Amino acid sequence: MHLLVLPGDGIGTEITAATLAVLRTVSDRFDLHLNIEEAAIGHAGLRAHGSTIHADIVEKARRAEGVVLGPTSTFEFKDPARGEINPSMMLRKSLDLFANIRPARTYAGFPLRCGEFDLIVARENTEGFYADRNMEAGSGEMMVTKDVAISLRRITRACSERIARAAFELTMSRRKRVTIVHKANVLKVTDGLFIESCQKVARDFPAVAVDDVIVDAMMAHVVRNPQRFDVIVTTNMYGDILSDLTAELSGSLGLAASLNAGTDHGMAQAAHGSAPDIAGKNVANPLSLILSVAMLLAWHGRRRKANAFQVAAAAIEKAVEAAISAKESTGDIGGRLGTRETGEAVAARLRA
Ligand code: NAD
Repeated sequence: MHLLVLPGDGIGTEITAATLAVLRTVSDRFDLHLNIEEAAIGHAGLRAHGSTIHADIVEKARRAEGVVLGPTSTFEFKDPARGEINPSMMLRKSLDLFANIRPARTYAGFPLRCGEFDLIVARENTEGFYADRNMEAGSGEMMVTKDVAISLRRITRACSERIARAAFELTMSRRKRVTIVHKANVLKVTDGLFIESCQKVARDFPAVAVDDVIVDAMMAHVVRNPQRFDVIVTTNMYGDILSDLTAELSGSLGLAASLNAGTDHGMAQAAHGSAPDIAGKNVANPLSLILSVAMLLAWHGRRRKANAFQVAAAAIEKAVEAAISAKESTGDIGGRLGTRETGEAVAARLRA
């Protein structure tokens, strides 16, 4: 498997290094023959190539069989004309990575905030409130006068149906329950279309129980009773916000794994950002990205019918579980190790 690894900014380089230690170990242990290519994005890309993500890197990503994307300091990228582009947006849009799958589950080994739970947020990833990616050309965000700014939200039947299908397919091997999260009490047309599209797809999955919850109330429900949810399907920005909450409820944003999946491409990406407040201190939790690459390997294994990749993914998850319960993890989840040492601890368990 040819993997393109893009370390990113802030803690990105640290958690990527720890993840690479795990990837190299599983490659040897399960004969995956991973061919790992690295390239600079974010501030390193800007310094080296004048752009936070160069067109060549998008081409490399297109040719690779999987991408591992570290977080970048996107808030600092203000001017696309000066090469300051959001790499995550560029890759999701260019590779049509329409499904952002963000699991959140609890682990034994540290105090739980809301009891044990295991859910997945299936977030639409290509339109919605994300005005920088919902247009064919130009930006969906504009300054009408110096005192008036507008941004456009796009919801389409096709994009809503494909994320809904991904969500229903996911729940079929789980607890067969899908919750549609929306704001159709206010955004009656756009979120109305989203709900209608999800309900249309639901008809193909009669075994699945379906309900819907308004996004603001969802914040209370998920804190009060996260056990109620299995797969949550929602639009882009609601999913982005909700999944940070579910990750933190599971223990830490440092556990926030995600897979961006399209028809032909997959990209592992931690759900959090570059965390400048803890960057360079060897304290960031690398398990977010380590669990994300496990999702990528499993995705690749399913598509290619290559069982070794699925076995490797399951082994990573098991090693992470064992490491957390032995406190071989970072301080955010009660562990006593640094970023690098956490990666090494997971790798050591995979070798054992
Ligand atoms: P953040 O997600 O980087 O951090 C939020 C909080 O969570 C911080 O306290 C941070 O220390 C903590 N945290 C995050 N990851 C952690 C980890 N692995 N282990 C332990 N603690 C962790 O959000 P922010 O500070 O608002 O954003 C920082 C930068 O990241 C901004 O420039 C933002 O635009 C960017 N960002 C990038 C992405 C991405 O590249 N995918 C996603 C979100 C934010």
